[in-house]
Amino acid sequence: MSDRRLEVDALSKRYGDTVALDGMTFDVRAGEIFGFVGSNGAGKTTTMRIILGVLAADGGEVRWTGVPVSQETRSRIGYMPEERGLYPRMKVGEQLTYLARLHGLGAERAAAAVREWTERLGVQARIGDEVQKLSLGNQQRVQLAAALVHDPEILVLDEPFSGLDPVAVDVMSQVLREKAAEGIPVIFSSHQLDLVERLCDRVGIVRAGTMVACDTVDELRASGGEELLVHAPD
Ligand code: ATP
Repeated sequence: MSDRRLEVDALSKRYGDTVALDGMTFDVRAGEIFGFVGSNGAGKTTTMRIILGVLAADGGEVRWTGVPVSQETRSRIGYMPEERGLYPRMKVGEQLTYLARLHGLGAERAAAAVREWTERLGVQARIGDEVQKLSLGNQQRVQLAAALVHDPEILVLDEPFSGLDPVAVDVMSQVLREKAAEGIPVIFSSHQLDLVERLCDRVGIVRAGTMVACDTVDELRASGGEELLVHAPD
C-alpha cells in the first residue's frame, strides 16, 4: 500500500539576503489536520507556495506518497492563498466553474461541484454576483470553494480563518474535518491558537524558516512546548 504522506524535506529558500526557509522539514499524513503556526515572516507562506509549485525552493524536496511532487500532482492540490486570488469582476459561479474546468472536470461534474460547494459554504444566493460585490467573509467562502471545487487530494490553506465571523469559522472547520475524514491531508496556517488547538491533530511551530517543534497540542504541552505554542504568533 502506498504511503499517503505529504513530506516536506529540508526546504531552503532565500530572497536576496533574507533566509526565508532553512531546512524546513515536516510531514502530514492522509486524514490528518496539521496546523502551521509561527510569527509573521516565519516562513509559512513560502513553504506553502513551494508545496504548490508557484515558487521554487533553493534546496530540499516535497514528496507525496514517497514520490517528488510533479506538476501533475500539484494540480491535485486545493490551495487557498493568503492574498485571496479571485478575479474581482468575474461572477462567483463563472469563476468556480472556470477553475473546476481548468482542473479537468467535465461540464456536468463541474456544475455539480459548483452547486455543492456554494451551497455547503452558504454562498449559493451569490452565484450570479461579481466577486467584488461580496463581503470579505463571503469572498473567503468562495475562495475556500475554489480550493475544493476540483475535488483535491491535498488541501493547503494559508490563513483560511482570518477575519471570518463565527458562523463562517464553524462552516470552514466542519469542511476541514470532513475532508480529513475522507483521507485528505489538510494543512492550514493560522494565528488563532484556539482554533488550531480545537481542529488540529498535530501542530508545527515555525521560527525563522525552521520547524522548531511538531506534535499534538497535548504532547507539546507535556514536553514543555506550551511556551513555544503560546508565544509562536506575535
Ligand atoms: P505571515 O504570517 O506574515 O504570512 P509567513 O510565516 O507566511 O508570515 P513568509 O511570508 O513565508 O512568512 O516570509 C518568510 C520570510 O521571507 C520573511 O522574512 C519575509 O519578509 C521574506 N519574504 C517573503 N516573500 C518575499 C519576497 N517576495 N521578497 C523578499 N522577501 C520575502
